[in-house]
Amino acid sequence: MDTDDCRFCRIVRGDQSAHVLYDDAETTAFLDANPATEGHTLVVPNGHVEDLLLAEPATTAAVVETAQAVATAMNRTLDPDGFSVFHTTGGLVGEVEHAHLHLLPRFADDDVHLALDREELTAADAERVVDRVCDGPG
Ligand SMILES: [Zn+2]
Repeated sequence: MDTDDCRFCRIVRGDQSAHVLYDDAETTAFLDANPATEGHTLVVPNGHVEDLLLAEPATTAAVVETAQAVATAMNRTLDPDGFSVFHTTGGLVGEVEHAHLHLLPRFADDDVHLALDREELTAADAERVVDRVCDGPG
């Protein structure tokens, strides 16, 4: 992807405005333009990467370190009850393909629902998944 067409690359370069909370040589953290909670932040690598799970480990580590630093500052200032942190990859990514870690300060009354339709893990399913992942290619 041409980074000129990438909204987050433009934010990193300063060509598009954003409410930046933190930046350094590797990462930028800015407020999500459509926050789910007060302080909802996106942490991005400064280089255009589409998937933190496939990025250089140092890049992913830098993003996580920045999320920790911002969360620490938020704990001192916004007084959240906790955080939710997530990253989506592949075909389920939304409109911006530049990898971004969502850092959501959580509050007891925030009305955020990260719903997972869960079932109890059976021994057979556990064994099958462990076998597939641990014996798979790579
Ligand atoms: Zn980008």
